[in-house]
Amino acid sequence: MRTAVFGGSFDPPHNGHLALCLFARELAGLDRLMVSVSKNPFKATAAASDDDRAAMARLLTREINSAGAFAEMSTWELQQPGPSYTIDLLRHVAALHPGDELVLLVGEDSYRQMPQWKSAPEIPKRCSIAVFGRSGGETADPPVNDHLFPAHHYDFDMAVSATKIRQRVAAGQPIDHLVPPSIAAYIAEHGLYRS
Ligand code: ATP
Repeated sequence: MRTAVFGGSFDPPHNGHLALCLFARELAGLDRLMVSVSKNPFKATAAASDDDRAAMARLLTREINSAGAFAEMSTWELQQPGPSYTIDLLRHVAALHPGDELVLLVGEDSYRQMPQWKSAPEIPKRCSIAVFGRSGGETADPPVNDHLFPAHHYDFDMAVSATKIRQRVAAGQPIDHLVPPSIAAYIAEHGLYRS
């Protein structure tokens, strides 16, 4: 089985995440996808609570699975003490699904940060890496050494980010074109991201 791991803050999940997962299923030949809600040590405190981010990530997996079931949501990282690191998640998934080939799904911005991640050299030994282009993703991070972090790069171009969505909600602007309907409804019902 080819099992993909897709970690994120999902604060909130959006159409970029949804499209990336559907695209990955077809192009990377995935059998299974774990969507893992993280406590990202590189990000400032989350805007929504862990419970709300997990609930929205669950809605994301439902949206993904409406095109054929293969995704599940994991709160394993949230249950760990302290910050969560991708290498620990990969070890956890390897133990859960022994013998599976693991594929780590990341956007270009995350891939550029990978050399700074905990136990970074071990990551490509544990999984293959699938990188999705990130439109408008100006970043100060230098390109990654392809020999140290070999990756398959997919052309991908969706100019949506969770930051933009939080800003739009705070400004009272619509977000219906940026998130799946179930997640737009959850944000409205729970009053998330209002200033
Ligand atoms: P924020 O704006 O709060 O930084 P985000 O939109 O980057 O959030 P995350 O939950 O941090 O969302 O992203 C999880 C993963 O999805 C990361 O690997 C990120 O690079 C990737 N990703 C998110 N949005 C896109 C996008 N539009 N195109 C490609 N990759 C994306």
